Amino acid sequence: MTSRAYVGRFAPSPTGPLHAGSLVAALASYLDALVHGGRWLLRIDDADLSRVQNGAADTIAAQLKHYGFVWHGNITHTQDSRPAHQVALDQLQQQGLLYTCQCSRADLASLPTSYLGERVYDKRCEAHPITLNLTRALRLRVVETPITFTDRWSGTQKQSLTHAVGDFVVWRPASAAGSQDDAYNYQLTMPVDDAAAGVTHVVRGADLLGNTARQCYVLDQLCLARPHYLHVPLVTTADGVKLSKQHGAPALPVLPSNDPIPWLNQTLVHLGCGVSSATHLPAFWRDATAAWARKLTQLPHLP
Ligand code: GLU
Repeated sequence: MTSRAYVGRFAPSPTGPLHAGSLVAALASYLDALVHGGRWLLRIDDADLSRVQNGAADTIAAQLKHYGFVWHGNITHTQDSRPAHQVALDQLQQQGLLYTCQCSRADLASLPTSYLGERVYDKRCEAHPITLNLTRALRLRVVETPITFTDRWSGTQKQSLTHAVGDFVVWRPASAAGSQDDAYNYQLTMPVDDAAAGVTHVVRGADLLGNTARQCYVLDQLCLARPHYLHVPLVTTADGVKLSKQHGAPALPVLPSNDPIPWLNQTLVHLGCGVSSATHLPAFWRDATAAWARKLTQLPHLP
């Protein structure tokens, strides 16, 4: 796996503009690609159409440009890969790993919540084949054997999917997804799209660390190579909550008069990489790349 040419990516959800919290994942993934001399892709993660905000994808691209990010090739959208998502779903179906579920949100409310904050599905629909028009989801059967992977920041991770989430949703019909089209779930689309794009290194926020075992499991079932993972610490509010638009995080400014370097520097500090004294973007990116290379040597979990 390490011999494959480095391909990284940033996959923001178009639910609003980027803010100081989302800049952390963008910066870390971009710097990691620069340090490895790799390609960095920009994929708009619009898997969940019910959460897409009109114009957000364009705003995100404009913000990234203003802050000096340069992505390889065209911007892609998760929705454009729906045929590949269906192929993956069919493959899982043929392997006998899927079953239909008719549970509503209310039906699931009494299920125990795991340490990940997920309702652990108790397989109540597994033994009861139902007619297609009652289907609210397709679930992927998981196994007891824990999923193990190395996070380059946090080290060895071990998760029993049975205990953390249970059989999880990979597809919903439009009627249950709250959108016009059927919805392939993020846990399926993200690993399938990463594999199709040849992504070798995923660098993203620590809020997604708990999802990674599910994505490794999907890749394993589809016989696709797992990428390397690195999850960076989140920016939190004073009361310890992840910074987000819902918590009033302002959008990263893009006015020509706005100097992006202080915002980038604040993010570099958050990543434990010090600050750059650069006064223009090319110098900032040189400093930041060198700082990230030093940071990587302090992380015990290579590559
Ligand atoms: N779209 C997700 C987010 O903005 C990130 C997905 C990923 O990097 O896997 O949080």
